[in-house]
Amino acid sequence: MATIRQNAFQDVLKREPQYVKYDSNISDFFGEHVFHAEVMREYLPDGAYKMMMAAIQSGTSLDRSIADQVASSMKDWAITKGATHYTHWFQPLNGSTAEKHDAFFKPVGPGRAIERFDGDLLVQQEPDASSFPNGGIRNTFEARGYSAWDPSSPAFVIGRTLCIPTIFVSYTGESLDFKMPLIKALNAIDQAAVEVCQYFDKNVTKVIATLGWEQEYFLIDKAMYNARPDIMMTGRALFGQAPAKGQQLEDHYFGSIPERVTEFMRDFEMKAIRLGIPVTTRHNEVAPNQFECAPIFEECNLANDHNLLLMDLMEKIALKHNFKVLLHEKPFAGMNGSGKHNNWSLSTNTGVNLLAPGKNPKTNLQFLTFFVNTIKAVHDNADLLRACIASANNDHRLGANEAPPAIISAFIGSYLSNVLDDIELNVKDGKMSPEDKTEFKMNIGKIPQIIMDNTDRNRTSPLAFTGNKFEFRAVGSTANCAKPMIIMNTIMAKQLKDFKVNVDKRIAKSDSKDEAILKELQQMIKDSKKIRFEGNGYGEEWVQEAARRGLNNFKDTPRALDIWDDPRVIAMFEELDVLTKREIEARKEIEFENYIYKLQIESRVMGDLTQNHIIPAVINYQNRLIANVQGLMQVLGDDGKEASAAQRELITKISMHLNKMKHLCDEMLDARRRVNKIEDAEEKAVAYCDEVKCYFDDIRYHTDKLEYLVDDELWPLPKLREMLLTK
Ligand code: ADP
Ligand code: MG
Repeated sequence: MATIRQNAFQDVLKREPQYVKYDSNISDFFGEHVFHAEVMREYLPDGAYKMMMAAIQSGTSLDRSIADQVASSMKDWAITKGATHYTHWFQPLNGSTAEKHDAFFKPVGPGRAIERFDGDLLVQQEPDASSFPNGGIRNTFEARGYSAWDPSSPAFVIGRTLCIPTIFVSYTGESLDFKMPLIKALNAIDQAAVEVCQYFDKNVTKVIATLGWEQEYFLIDKAMYNARPDIMMTGRALFGQAPAKGQQLEDHYFGSIPERVTEFMRDFEMKAIRLGIPVTTRHNEVAPNQFECAPIFEECNLANDHNLLLMDLMEKIALKHNFKVLLHEKPFAGMNGSGKHNNWSLSTNTGVNLLAPGKNPKTNLQFLTFFVNTIKAVHDNADLLRACIASANNDHRLGANEAPPAIISAFIGSYLSNVLDDIELNVKDGKMSPEDKTEFKMNIGKIPQIIMDNTDRNRTSPLAFTGNKFEFRAVGSTANCAKPMIIMNTIMAKQLKDFKVNVDKRIAKSDSKDEAILKELQQMIKDSKKIRFEGNGYGEEWVQEAARRGLNNFKDTPRALDIWDDPRVIAMFEELDVLTKREIEARKEIEFENYIYKLQIESRVMGDLTQNHIIPAVINYQNRLIANVQGLMQVLGDDGKEASAAQRELITKISMHLNKMKHLCDEMLDARRRVNKIEDAEEKAVAYCDEVKCYFDDIRYHTDKLEYLVDDELWPLPKLREMLLTK
């Protein structure tokens, strides 16, 4: 009987590219499934349109009668797009399982029919929220939650459903999602940044955070996926030797993308463009069958919604092309993992990117102000940045195979390092002489508008300045970008607020505005020095050096999450009205639960697969060897012993690995039983990390040895080389 592996292989051999009709003119259909401003102008009465635009710009809520008008035109428009149903679309806190994206998109009930749709239904819904994680919030307060319309992110039609982006909150007002705190963090950064911009330009009244994400992913054939229960259930290969011909050749990078993949990409890109997602680039990543998709950056909240939509879209479209998208951070050990770089910047209503050097000393002082404030914010909150990217998946990636280490640092390039050193050394205490001021103005004026030296060397840093934005590279590929974006924007808002207070104090003490700013920048440059690192972030020396500098290196999620208990952190989030203490506690609890859940599943699957797939195949092969040895002895008599030496050696080796593997699996099972009894989520997560997860690599070591020793024909699971290098 053929193994599931052999059957899968037969399926793969039959595959053909699924050609997609090519639409030539993207501008003809960009955003055609989105209820965007232009459509609103067409469908809404003039007054309602203006109110709606004002609500989008300022975040104010809409009058109920206006909401009725918006709902009615939204419905009329959606029906022209073929929609029959509508749903509130929200982002609950279960970032845990492979079904995650389904959950994001799971309609409220199965989606409700669209004919009845008014302002009430647009503005607020009461989903059956009992199955979404809440970290205990609803247990103690109020059982229900509701979703509320977010007018700043436009509604869209997918298939036959009108999707309305919403926040998700408990009846007591606590957020149960990622969107609500993100919107609050974006408000906080808006306020704080506008105040600081006022030093430079009175016309600035609004600052938005921009986000440009880069989504990495693997593609494997659907049949191969179905033949690997570990990948199906955990998103990653728990077993398997890395292919002999793998990434060391690096011939895949920017190589020609096989036709089947090209057609898949074209298909999902066309659909993404219809949903207004501005996808543009497409190239192969470093590992075999690894790819990336990166759209043009957008306002942060919208960009994040678009990322979530795109992940869902990719998974759906891939199935049509007989592929399975693996979004996991580390699907294949020994090969590159997948990240989701978050490129972040701040932009004003006057059209200025606050993290791009300007044309003259004034705009460059503004640039330096925001630049140094970012570095200071990162310095003061490095542990929070580590915590917001922590997950069971990302633990496998950080610090391994071309992924940034778990140590947070910032790379700024040699040019800007020199500029900061100059300020640090040469800004004087007390009154600055007119010559000093002139010199500084000249030097600052010289900062080139495009800083070139950052492009190549930024690759090893978790957070790199790349000329006009910071790139947070440590974010995992499955992550909801809201997590890092809540942190980046909150810590920056806090930093800018403190900066404003300190500069104003200096001005009150008779410093001129520029002097006060320069002196404050100097202080911040001194205070945040240890976070700046220009060297190789992948090297072992950096681990030593970072320890000497007193930077933390949290290798696992449970430890990384500890920072959420810090009273300073809680005070910051409460001060800026982003999260309450209670919401923080609930989120932390959910993170622990997700972590436990992931490791529990991985450990179970590991046990099942060794028991049911690997051990039987190994014994089967061993029996063949034994029969062969017995046969040789029979035929050759005494000479049989020598003639079967290799087989005997194999039998012994196989027994050794089999015994060790089985023994380790049994021990892991005992450990799991023990750890499962722990009540407290944090304690349990730590125990899972230290007492269960520690078996994974050892068990894998022996199964991978067995994969190598056992007859290829008998091995039940598709091998990594087969999954990764098929056409
Ligand atoms: P790399 O792969 O070298 O990091 P890419 O060109 O793939 O570079 O990605 C650059 C990313 O930075 C894109 O997603 C782009 O949209 C984003 N980006 C560019 N300017 C900004 C900005 N001002 N704010 C946020 N993101 C930006
Ligand atoms: Mg990048």
